[in-house]
Amino acid sequence: MGVFDHAEFDNHESLHYFHDDSTGLRAIVAVHSTALGPAAGGTRRWVYNSDADALTDVLRLARGMTYKNAVAGLKFGGGKAVILASDATPKSPELFRAFGRCVDSLGGRYVTAEDVGCSVDDMRYVREETKFVSGLPQIGADAGGDPSPWTALGCIQGIEAAVHARLGAESLQGIRVAVQGVGHVGLNLCRLLHAAGAELFVSDVNSDNLRMATDEMPATVLPPTEILFADVDVLAPCALGNVLTSLTIPKIRAKIVAGAANNQLSTPADGVRLAERDILYAPDYVINAGGIITVAGEYYGNSSEDDVRADVGRIKDRLKKIFEQAHETGRPTHELADELARSIVAAARQ
Ligand code: NAD
Repeated sequence: MGVFDHAEFDNHESLHYFHDDSTGLRAIVAVHSTALGPAAGGTRRWVYNSDADALTDVLRLARGMTYKNAVAGLKFGGGKAVILASDATPKSPELFRAFGRCVDSLGGRYVTAEDVGCSVDDMRYVREETKFVSGLPQIGADAGGDPSPWTALGCIQGIEAAVHARLGAESLQGIRVAVQGVGHVGLNLCRLLHAAGAELFVSDVNSDNLRMATDEMPATVLPPTEILFADVDVLAPCALGNVLTSLTIPKIRAKIVAGAANNQLSTPADGVRLAERDILYAPDYVINAGGIITVAGEYYGNSSEDDVRADVGRIKDRLKKIFEQAHETGRPTHELADELARSIVAAARQ
């Protein structure tokens, strides 16, 4: 598979393939941009159908991190890592130590943290081999620990902004929300939505995660094939990307799409399709920046939990501005967000 002519290649600065013989680790790190600082973005551990699928994922995710970090005002460029999971290479301290050595070999051009399939505990082993890692256990009232509650906090505040902009509602009381994926972020988001009086519809392919959510709060369970098309006000994708496509968008009944998953749009044309259907889309990398905000605070070591809470609170204001601009200009929200991100990166390059 060629890289330079790959559909997802976007002038990424560098791409790194790693293999560790003793653990069987296979990983790819993509550094999209270091214009604003070290390329930062989490590590996804996932079973990919092929190396080509892993490459596509890491290229897309790395570019998304550049945009996310830029719009969030962080001193981070964008990068991402994927670990190609398989039965032959189970999670182990040795695997994450080996991965830590890979990250360390990049000399700080890439800073990692946890993403799908990785946890705070895994990052502790990465830390044994490199200082270029964040998302470690929290110490006192400093920023740190599992980023997903912060991602969920940014998401619910973003959902509030979207519900106000699109439905004119002042609160989430009685608002019906479909959450696809009740993992780290999805479960935390459900807790916040339930506390705010929203009516929940949930789905997950992992029955343990689903049970954890439904044991804790009232929620209607929908099959994974139906959750995207639920008759709700808000669809919150919190599983994997590529859920908003030419095939799914015509069947979506929600008036708002606002969730944590990265790369929700399959292609930019899908952002246009949503706008044409008058579905208000909260650009994924704007609404889901809560996690990287705490990761940045922890990495640079100059933030308290209160600072992180205040920074995450600004996500709502950014979204409000994008929604207002979209309303005034008739342009799709993803285009406005992309334009903003690119202008911040271009200014840093100069
Ligand atoms: P996670 O692995 O803890 O949770 C994902 C959940 O989605 C799992 O329970 C999984 O079983 C479920 N799932 C997978 N495919 C599904 C499907 N087709 N239908 C229904 N459920 C499905 O991951 P997470 O950390 O909660 O992240 C969720 C999404 O948010 C990812 O796209 C991630 O990249 C993004 N994100 C996470 C953070 C964070 O702080 N963790 C920050 C920004 C973005």
